[in-house]
Amino acid sequence: MAEASPQLQYDDIGNGTSMSRHENNSSTSIPLRYIDPNFSLTIEDIKHLRDDDLVDRIHRKKLHLVLDLDHTLIHSVPLSKTLSEKKEVLKAMHGFHVTSDDYFLVKLRPGVQEFLEQAKTMFDLSIYTMGSRGYANKMADLLMSKVHYSSRFTWVIGREDCLNELQKGLDIVLSHENVVLIVDDKKEIWAESCKKNIIEIGKYRCYENQAKDDKELARVLRILREVHNVFYESDFESLNGEEKYSARDVRQILERVQNKEEDLCLDDCSESKEKLGESQMGK
Ligand SMILES: [Mg+2]
Repeated sequence: MAEASPQLQYDDIGNGTSMSRHENNSSTSIPLRYIDPNFSLTIEDIKHLRDDDLVDRIHRKKLHLVLDLDHTLIHSVPLSKTLSEKKEVLKAMHGFHVTSDDYFLVKLRPGVQEFLEQAKTMFDLSIYTMGSRGYANKMADLLMSKVHYSSRFTWVIGREDCLNELQKGLDIVLSHENVVLIVDDKKEIWAESCKKNIIEIGKYRCYENQAKDDKELARVLRILREVHNVFYESDFESLNGEEKYSARDVRQILERVQNKEEDLCLDDCSESKEKLGESQMGK
């Protein structure tokens, strides 16, 4: 009988379809380099850990939020590029936080402190970036230094940790996909299997005129709060144990919440147009 394909085993754990893999004598293992450079787990172990994570998460009424860095929470520019290229960036340098090692100039997105503090009450937060792990750790420290109470990100994942160097995937995240949401300005960089977990956020570029009035994090926070509320809504309390939650899926809830938001936005737009029409007719 033919041996089962490793791809099918990956599909069994319900995650990414683009994994590279390490094989040892008898089992397939997944490298989890963001935990330790030499650390890996078998698919079966990952599944057990995700099951444990689910029980713990439900007990604490938390979901898992995976956050991109660049143009999502921050805008950073290497110092050399700033000096040689963009005059408009130089003008916007005031108030930047400068990290020492690689001399990046970093601007935090407006509202990032409140976003992290509020999101932390509903989600465990992780960073997942295509920047290097060193860069990711620096930015994670900078972001958390702005949060009032002592806190840290659950995981900080950089490009060296990805199984596919050109693609992000939830295959290395130790939570089931039905309890993970992602916020990223680049939906296309995620594996196809993760698209329904994503809340796409508008790009933050600090030197653009409208950047200081940016309200994207507040918009995303409203969506996150709604998804969390629906997932843990009170009338669900009376049902049985963890099973009721393992049947819940943030992907389905997110789709409904985003559709509702789009409808509200369309209603607001048509209301504004009507008011505009009335005022013009009254002239
Ligand atoms: Mg980005």
